[in-house]
Amino acid sequence: MSSSSFHSFETQAVHAGMDYIQGSVCLPIFQSSIYKLKGDEDSSEIQYIRSNNTPTQLSVSRKIAALERGEVALVTSSGMAAISNALLTFLCNGSHLLAQSNLYVGTQNLIIKKFPELGIESDSIVLDSPEDWHQKIRKETKVIYVETVTNPTLEIGDLKSVVSFAKEHNLISIIDNTFATPINFNPLSLGFDLVIHSASKYLNGHLDLVAGCVVGTQKMIGPILERLNYTGSCLDPHACFLLSRGMETLALRVHQQNQNAMRVATFLEAHAQVERVIYPGLISHPQHSRAKALFRGYGGILCLELAGDIQQTKRFLDSLQIPLMAPSLGGVRTLITQPAATSHSKTISSKRKELGISDKLIRISIGIESPEDLITDLSESLDKLSGK
Ligand code: PLP
Repeated sequence: MSSSSFHSFETQAVHAGMDYIQGSVCLPIFQSSIYKLKGDEDSSEIQYIRSNNTPTQLSVSRKIAALERGEVALVTSSGMAAISNALLTFLCNGSHLLAQSNLYVGTQNLIIKKFPELGIESDSIVLDSPEDWHQKIRKETKVIYVETVTNPTLEIGDLKSVVSFAKEHNLISIIDNTFATPINFNPLSLGFDLVIHSASKYLNGHLDLVAGCVVGTQKMIGPILERLNYTGSCLDPHACFLLSRGMETLALRVHQQNQNAMRVATFLEAHAQVERVIYPGLISHPQHSRAKALFRGYGGILCLELAGDIQQTKRFLDSLQIPLMAPSLGGVRTLITQPAATSHSKTISSKRKELGISDKLIRISIGIESPEDLITDLSESLDKLSGK
């Protein structure tokens, strides 16, 4: 089915990209690494798994492109493979990058620790402050790189201004849309050049694979595909099958996660044992009106801080029954972490403070369980703290 036949996310999540080859209603895993030549192709048309052009890879790529409202998509062996290959396609020795100050730690370390070894310089920018970007841009600046929603503090930058700034200065604008998912937000429709996902998270949704993707126009994706062929960052056909199957329920899952997270956030915000809740759907969120204007849903991630000390936080985490303590997100099951002890454990504490990550901060990635059960579990664990 062509991705233009139906426009709703629910239908596209199921049907887009599928060829129903030989009548197969599920995506076949074409495990063949190489394909028979027809005799008239040039070398660029040879089908090989590393070239990311075999039927299972192409099918899942078409599904992602349809959902992200892009011309084409490319699947990669991880989210970091998507990020590093995309950035290194447009940056080289001597070029400069503007990158949001509080990016996912892996991306941040790549840019700050590894890019200087290649002669690529960067400046971190505050996403709410266009004056800051104007001060930091140089004639060598080629790319501006941001995330839709930051991790773990869930800030939402001035994304419209990022797009117009990029266009004004001829920069390539790249956005990591992992947290929002294409169900809640399509950055290409706002004018971004490239969208990236860690497909290990919401797109797959079952916490059983690592994958990534980049979406954009044929013109932008072509050179990334060429680089991917050299770096060998392709996605295995079996992982493509799992990703495609996971994506069939993406819309259902994300709708449920949006609703669950809103209910849980509202419950927590009203609880006496809770000092602070961060969730873009709450009016108390500093960029709530921006989130409302940009997104179709507020997502499945929320953060909280309890009123008590760090020991209370630990007791709370230990007594929860449903959320599993694990440092990932976007899956069907609720996961909970303390970023200061996991993703940001290697960040020095003054920097953590600057980023708004206190030792007590808890991040919850809400799953698709019943919101009543989640709230009961949270409520019972909070009650235990006050000796109820
Ligand atoms: N982008 C974001 C926002 C992430 O949270 C992560 C991983 O947690 C990545 C990218 C990297 O993705 P992967 O683990 O699939 O390489």
